[in-house]
Amino acid sequence: MKITFWGVRGSFPVSSPDVIRYGGNTPCIEVQTDDGTIVIDAGTGIRGLGKSLLARGVSHVDLLLSHAHWDHIQGFPHFEPLFHDDVSITVHSLRHPRHTLSSIFSEQQQESFYPVRLEDLKARITFVEHDDGEAFEVAGAHVVIRRLNHPGVAGGFRIEFGVRTFSYISDTDLNGECLLASDLPATPKIEDIDWLRRLRQSACDLGQSADLMVCDTFFLPDEYDSTWGHSRPDDFVEFATEAGAGTVCLFHHRPDRSDDEMDTIVDACRAKVKGDLRVLGANEGLEIDL
Ligand SMILES: [Zn+2]
Ligand SMILES: [Zn+2]
Repeated sequence: MKITFWGVRGSFPVSSPDVIRYGGNTPCIEVQTDDGTIVIDAGTGIRGLGKSLLARGVSHVDLLLSHAHWDHIQGFPHFEPLFHDDVSITVHSLRHPRHTLSSIFSEQQQESFYPVRLEDLKARITFVEHDDGEAFEVAGAHVVIRRLNHPGVAGGFRIEFGVRTFSYISDTDLNGECLLASDLPATPKIEDIDWLRRLRQSACDLGQSADLMVCDTFFLPDEYDSTWGHSRPDDFVEFATEAGAGTVCLFHHRPDRSDDEMDTIVDACRAKVKGDLRVLGANEGLEIDL
């Protein structure tokens, strides 16, 4: 697998001289296998990816959507392959109790918000909704989707191709309060603390022995707010060590975070590592061959 980072910023895209090295686009990662192309999330980074895919003649992608918060879908209308009739795209995400996946995307392109409706795009778009824990095959890879602790319905992915494993565990608070209240199923009724345990176990299952784990390190300890569903670098250094990951990649950077601040955070994490865990700070353009 070849992993390419096209957008690494959380919440909101930014552009200023002090974010040039890490980049300002919101989440989008390309996963190339021998058999096809997987895209994770459709943040603003997907715009550049779209141009690259067209230049390379890629005519089908499977888009794995972690969740529909703006920073993860706002690049979709500007994904140029959608305007080509020889392109097909299959969008995969967790089933939402109140919204269909297609309605989420079509509402983003209502006339009030965007000049081209979803149904008028030329590419063939298919939406596939998955249950928590479901496994499926795309681009020759085995994928598992699991729900994570984040407001609304959000998931992460474990992608196995050959003997290599890539885990995407962004937008989750590993150690905070349970954030699923409005979407908890009515039965069985269990306490939040038990849901938290289940959701942390889901993250563990996704990340176990991963060669590469991409994680949510949005907050520093003095910024942390448990209502937003994001973690801190220390949370994931500890978690990745427990999971036996080879490399942990800090991701979903706070919009205010400058390049110099990111360097400081990455260095501080490396200093705390016990064992062989490798720590990287995701930057736009970073390519990792697994
Ligand atoms: Zn996000
Ligand atoms: Zn989110």
